Amino acid sequence: MKYCVGVDVGGTSVKLGIFEDTGRLIMKWSIPTRKDDGSAHLFEDIAESINKKLADAKISKDEVTGVGMGVPGPVLPDGYVEVCVNLGLKDRFPARELSALMDGMPVKLSNDANIAALGEMWQGGGKGYDSICMVTLGTGVGGGIIHEGKIVNGTHGIAGEIGHMHVTDGEEEACNCGGHGCLEQYASATGIVRVAKRKLAEGNVKSGLRAFGGKFSAKDVCDLAKSGDEIALETLEYSMGKLGLVLSYVAMCSDPEVFVIGGGVSKAGEFISDIIMRHLNAYLNMIKKKEKNVVLAKLGNDAGIYGAAKMVLE
Ligand SMILES: [Zn+2]
Repeated sequence: MKYCVGVDVGGTSVKLGIFEDTGRLIMKWSIPTRKDDGSAHLFEDIAESINKKLADAKISKDEVTGVGMGVPGPVLPDGYVEVCVNLGLKDRFPARELSALMDGMPVKLSNDANIAALGEMWQGGGKGYDSICMVTLGTGVGGGIIHEGKIVNGTHGIAGEIGHMHVTDGEEEACNCGGHGCLEQYASATGIVRVAKRKLAEGNVKSGLRAFGGKFSAKDVCDLAKSGDEIALETLEYSMGKLGLVLSYVAMCSDPEVFVIGGGVSKAGEFISDIIMRHLNAYLNMIKKKEKNVVLAKLGNDAGIYGAAKMVLE
């Protein structure tokens, strides 16, 4: 039996998992992300933690195909990270560093949204397909494209960053990326709340959202929409309409078999993925559509470690 290790580095914790090459997760755990001094000791912590768990599981290093790792920021094709704000990384080659700390074990690197996409293709909502686009609707909108089994990273490491596609002119608020009018500003959990507040301010239409006194979440919007609340429904039509439009652009560029929707907002289930699908399909006139081309993610927060591990099997 051969094994592989997946590492998903986040701003507060690092998730790790040991997998059989077949895709079976045999153990997972997490450690805190030590970010002091520009994450100077982060990769030492990760190497030490993996070595210890492999020893605990009585797995020798020559039984391990390699380690895959995801970081929250753009990764260049040669593994170079120019800057990763969340980790304070600057001018680094994280995979080389980790490999050197693990006696030369092969280490592959990509960004967190891309490994989540690969994970969902391998063992999650996209299982059985080899070309998918995954969208994570959380605080932001993450995106990853897998084409014929491989992550599309792009020249600058920004391929699949659909959250920052421009969808609205004249937006006054700025996006986290510095742009104005990015998809993320409307379709993320925070974006859904922003859109709902604007709709509430436009008039006096009765809505259950008014009872929250301005303090509601995307989940509240989804729950009320399910019960037929007019403003909540209009909000999701608008927000998920923008997403559907963007996905149709992705379809015209990379033509995936399915779109996989994950992240906190996807907990609203097929109610939300069906709204996205209806908008997407309204713009897709060149193909015969399958019954479901927008599906839900299945791996939750483990998608990253699955995809990271899968990277070394390519
Ligand atoms: Zn942006």
